[in-house]
Amino acid sequence: MKNIVILRLGHRPQRDKRITTHVGLTARAFGAEGMLLASDDPKLSNNLLDVAQRWGGDFYVKNNVSWKSEIKKWKDEGGKVCHLSMYGVNLPDAVPEIKECEKLMIVVGAEKVPFEIYEMADWNVAVGNQPHSEVAALAVTLDRIAEVDPLGAEFHGGELTVVPMECGKQVIDHRQTEQGSE
Ligand code: SAM
Repeated sequence: MKNIVILRLGHRPQRDKRITTHVGLTARAFGAEGMLLASDDPKLSNNLLDVAQRWGGDFYVKNNVSWKSEIKKWKDEGGKVCHLSMYGVNLPDAVPEIKECEKLMIVVGAEKVPFEIYEMADWNVAVGNQPHSEVAALAVTLDRIAEVDPLGAEFHGGELTVVPMECGKQVIDHRQTEQGSE
């Protein structure tokens, strides 16, 4: 798998800001290149971009996209679309096919998803056929379809890096390191 982008549908700025932020953070942390937000919430998009800048990597967020145009464009460019829904086929049955594609858009909803999405998707995939959360569904999917373990990913060019340790918290602030070395 080369390019993975997340399409977030149905985001309601007042109600969903925390969970949509978590969708974006999870997408970035588990290997997606960006998130398309099919709602207008520039504050949320900017917050996510701010995190990406501080913690490294090239994650992007596109605010207020038209989901239909983005899906059509993606498919015209040869991309495939996987819609996550508890009503779909169970993820383990779809993983081998999904892993073969080079460009994947993963669609997650908030409120009720338009039926057209089910028809436009190449796969409607359930992460188990029980209701839970788009954040959980996305994390499990990105982990299962990954060619390289996403937990080993390195994010370059950021301002902050965690130093993993058994007890305690240590973060390198590269801005201070750079100033200190001048
Ligand atoms: N009530 C909404 C509907 O019927 O479309 C879904 C609400 S659910 C909390 C929000 C999103 O979480 C869904 O659109 C789907 O993307 C994801 N989701 C929840 N449970 C899932 C599951 N078991 N498998 C895959 N995705 C799931």
